Amino acid sequence: MSTLSATALLDVWERGRAHGPLEQAALLLAAAHPATPPGAIGAMTVGRRDALLLALRESTFGPRIASVATCPACGEPLELAFDCADLRQDDGVPDGRDAGSDDGTQRLELDGYAVRFRCVSNDDLAALAGGAGAAAPRLALLRRCVLEARGPTAPVAVETLPAHVLDAVEQRMALADPGADLRLAVACPDCGHRWLAVFDIVSFFWREIESWACRLLRDVHALARAYGWSEREILALSPFRRRCYLDMVGT
Ligand SMILES: [Zn+2]
Repeated sequence: MSTLSATALLDVWERGRAHGPLEQAALLLAAAHPATPPGAIGAMTVGRRDALLLALRESTFGPRIASVATCPACGEPLELAFDCADLRQDDGVPDGRDAGSDDGTQRLELDGYAVRFRCVSNDDLAALAGGAGAAAPRLALLRRCVLEARGPTAPVAVETLPAHVLDAVEQRMALADPGADLRLAVACPDCGHRWLAVFDIVSFFWREIESWACRLLRDVHALARAYGWSEREILALSPFRRRCYLDMVGT
């Protein structure tokens, strides 16, 4: 399982602060998987990306997650406590599934139309967030992900595919990359309503990193002031030893 040192995680936090969640996800994975080329990280399906982020979160802060949700029926806030494993549907790799091929692309044949497509990647979402297809994001995403489309007689453009074929392509995309939609079964203790709450690992993990980094910098400040150690020396200490010294200087 990949893991990041305190120094490496602080570095990612500093570089990612000015960016949005898609870049933050890519920075985290690039730091945790240095042997993986940056292009391959961007091209990962969203499900694969989230599975790796969930694994990194587990190795960084442990398996337990505490979060909050609002009941959509009665509006009451409720606290959620669960394990990373409760969210893990699979590794996000669309292997061995219906109509999947070795290169990760999928095929759909419906009513005389044949469509070859791939699942949505982090790069696809980043391109959309960057303004590409702002007016019609759904079509812009399909244009990126559909590699080939044929009608009953000849190749066709994505935008000319019938709506029910486009719907079927999207459904097949979701089936092929189930980890892209992390959900948790929740029951409201107040009204009994049950629903599947969406869990956004990217923004959740980044918020945790933010508060961890702020705490850690305060600790570095206290120890540097008390002992004259450098930031590098303090970060090289184990969290346990850092805590021991912090206790001794009374913070
Ligand atoms: Zn409720």
